[in-house]
Amino acid sequence: MTTPDGRRAVRRRVLSVEEYVQGVLAGDRTLLARAITLVESRRPEHFDIAQQVLDAVLPRTGGAHRIGITGVPGVGKSTFIEALGGHLTRQGHQVAVLAVDPSSSRSGGSILGDKTRMARLAVDPDAFIRPSPSGGYLGGVNRVTRETLLLCEAAGFDVVLVETVGAGQSETMVAEMTDFFLVLMLPGAGDDLQGIKKGVLEIADMIAINKMDADPIRAGIAKRDYESALHMTVPASPNWTVPVQMISSLNNQGLEALWDHILAHKTALTESGELAAKRRSQQLDWMWTLLKERVVENFLSDPERAARIEAYSAEIRNNTLNPTRAVQKLLD
Ligand code: GDP
Repeated sequence: MTTPDGRRAVRRRVLSVEEYVQGVLAGDRTLLARAITLVESRRPEHFDIAQQVLDAVLPRTGGAHRIGITGVPGVGKSTFIEALGGHLTRQGHQVAVLAVDPSSSRSGGSILGDKTRMARLAVDPDAFIRPSPSGGYLGGVNRVTRETLLLCEAAGFDVVLVETVGAGQSETMVAEMTDFFLVLMLPGAGDDLQGIKKGVLEIADMIAINKMDADPIRAGIAKRDYESALHMTVPASPNWTVPVQMISSLNNQGLEALWDHILAHKTALTESGELAAKRRSQQLDWMWTLLKERVVENFLSDPERAARIEAYSAEIRNNTLNPTRAVQKLLD
């Protein structure tokens, strides 16, 4: 069969749930990629198969060290992941890199997790890179990333790096699905402490000031500024003091020490039982998020209700209806 432009169309055989499950558990990259495509699909029949695959592999998930990484565009995320990822695969780790970019769309493609940005890691047999799913809507990207992470764990990856851009909601989302949240900063950004979003310091488990090679003096100033800013935030864990470290992803400087910090964090939180508790509460929070989303979706799927909401919204805008009363009327 050929397509209108003359290329041969490749028709892929439909696989059974069992074939996906076996393929993923065997660490077969092609089948893992296809299982992720199912998870990303918007077709209801794919959703069903994907959920069956996930149910089946669930007992084999949870084994990876889940690490979230954020930073503004240009801070050096891909350079950093390429360097750290290579360091880890050389040590015998199997590293998966996932990306969360809520703004990505099919047409625009995504910048995060782009394999051309991590050329060496992309061809490393012990690494697996998956670009951000399209969607644009956060709920969808959230589910897809969480489920992709589980599939990667079932496939045997023991380190999963989840990359995102420095933009409030996506950072929180990634922090809520990972064990460790790393924030990359630029030297000089600390010159203007007002520019630091306080929110991100509150969810950071570590701050790394990248590109120290380019400007060691300003990197040192930034380090001190972040350290004092951290003193003013409430620590997320009683068992962990957030370190601030200078690194150069380009020259591979400080990356081993950085990894040691990540391991020390894991040890501290494992020994205190905090890591297991964190994962449990992440799972429960996620259930509630999904439930609320679904309940609202269900509620709105009734056209009569949707029409009433429209009407009430107009009244609320005109200040002739109190929102509390509107909700009461809708629920009645
Ligand atoms: P991303 O947008 O956060 O993924 O940033 P990139 O990894 O694409 O890096 C942006 C630019 O900064 C590229 O030109 C990199 O070569 C450069 N860069 C990244 N890390 C370093 C570093 O440690 N030192 C220096 N001097 N440049 C770096």
